[in-house]
Amino acid sequence: MPLDFAGVCAPFSSLSTPAQAGVLSRLYQEDAAQEVLGAAIRWDFRGRIALVSSFGAESAALLHMVAKIDPTTPVLFLETGMLFPETLSYQQALAARFGLTDLRLISADMDEVSTQDSGGLLHRNDPDACCALRKTRPLQHALGQFDAWITGRKRGQSSTRSDLDLFESDAAGRVKLNPLADWSAQDVATYMTANDLPPHPLVASGYPSIGCAPCTTPVKPGEDPRAGRWRGREKIECGIHVDNGRIIRTPREKAAPMDGA
Ligand code: SF4
Repeated sequence: MPLDFAGVCAPFSSLSTPAQAGVLSRLYQEDAAQEVLGAAIRWDFRGRIALVSSFGAESAALLHMVAKIDPTTPVLFLETGMLFPETLSYQQALAARFGLTDLRLISADMDEVSTQDSGGLLHRNDPDACCALRKTRPLQHALGQFDAWITGRKRGQSSTRSDLDLFESDAAGRVKLNPLADWSAQDVATYMTANDLPPHPLVASGYPSIGCAPCTTPVKPGEDPRAGRWRGREKIECGIHVDNGRIIRTPREKAAPMDGA
């Protein structure tokens, strides 16, 4: 159901973003992901919301839901220049199949790249700086015109996400919607099967979590599905998810299974 401002508080828009997120989380806590998404896209943030997608291992489900609601919804895709060719082809195939009409490829500022990573090896020496250059800053710039964004994060992905709210606020004062917050990996798989959605081509090759090619390796049976991300380093998050000014970071051994941005 769309947001009933009159039944919540008045005026809703005067509330701080964290307070708005709290109100929205309570309002929609009993609703299915598709219903929350539909209300956010059609009513609550109409024309002011974007989906951020990595077109990774579990991305097809959320992309499919958004496309069914409104295929003109802006979809922001971080093209870091370091992605697997399979991810680029998967992105093109899904966008065509779902009829997405406002897919935006977000890239780093080329002047910054030439001054900070002319050799393309920053990911080896300083992956945090590389993610800031190729992911965090470009995304923050791209989100500047929106009041809200949609992510595919789920509570089961890591200990830092175990208390993930349906709605959050980000450091820039935008509302962040996590419609799959309470979904499991099996829920995603079931949805993809039911809707005949194609898997990312690298999943069958041992990649349950897929990021940039230099920072992603296959995962052995029994390993944490995210073990292939920045393997051998302390880093486990790219930094695009900042909650109340704090970048989420936890020790790798605390990270739980499932894919994530
Ligand atoms: S995942 Fe690796 S290559 Fe991609 S932006 Fe981060 S450090 Fe750079």
